[in-house]
Amino acid sequence: MMGLKEVYILGKKFRELIPEQSLQERIDELAARINNDFAGREVVFVGILNGAFMFAADLFRRLDLQARITFIKLASYAGTSSTGTVRELIGWNEDLKDKQVIIIDDIVDRGDTLEYAVNNLIIRNVTDIKVAVLLLKPGSYRKNIRIDYVGYEIPNDFVAGYGLDYNGFGRNLTSIYSLVG
Ligand code: 5GP
Ligand code: MG
Repeated sequence: MMGLKEVYILGKKFRELIPEQSLQERIDELAARINNDFAGREVVFVGILNGAFMFAADLFRRLDLQARITFIKLASYAGTSSTGTVRELIGWNEDLKDKQVIIIDDIVDRGDTLEYAVNNLIIRNVTDIKVAVLLLKPGSYRKNIRIDYVGYEIPNDFVAGYGLDYNGFGRNLTSIYSLVG
């Protein structure tokens, strides 16, 4: 094989799945759609830490809306697999009542994290909720929540880079990498 970059994170081998340039071009497209869909409207973006911080920053800087952004911190993953239980590590401190909200997350696997975030927004009486995720694993997703803006559909393999970690490391890589083997 030629040209596929490999990196090691904590001794595990990862192979490039989505190069930096593709990511940036795709985020241009998602931002253009959001700018178009919400032109002239006020939107509050809710990023889900930690994984979404880089995607949220790159998406948000491309918006030309009257927009705010806030973050919550949720965790459902341990090592390389989903636990099915969502823990809230930093909570909600913004008044979101009657707001148009767009959730920004890095990746949807089983969908537990997304469901948790959506349910928490519903009880806060927001006007409407849309969802933007960079990566979706359709083979693993088991919820019915509509995901309005999807960067890429990917296989069920564990990925890291561009904000996503493997046991805390790899978030600084500018491309997305997939665990080998
Ligand atoms: P879910 O709750 O949908 O099963 O998992 C979603 C969360 O788990 C994501 O927000 C992300 O933080 C983490 N996650 C899911 N799949 C992966 C993956 O392949 N790599 C990494 N680094 N995190 C993942
Ligand atoms: Mg996440």
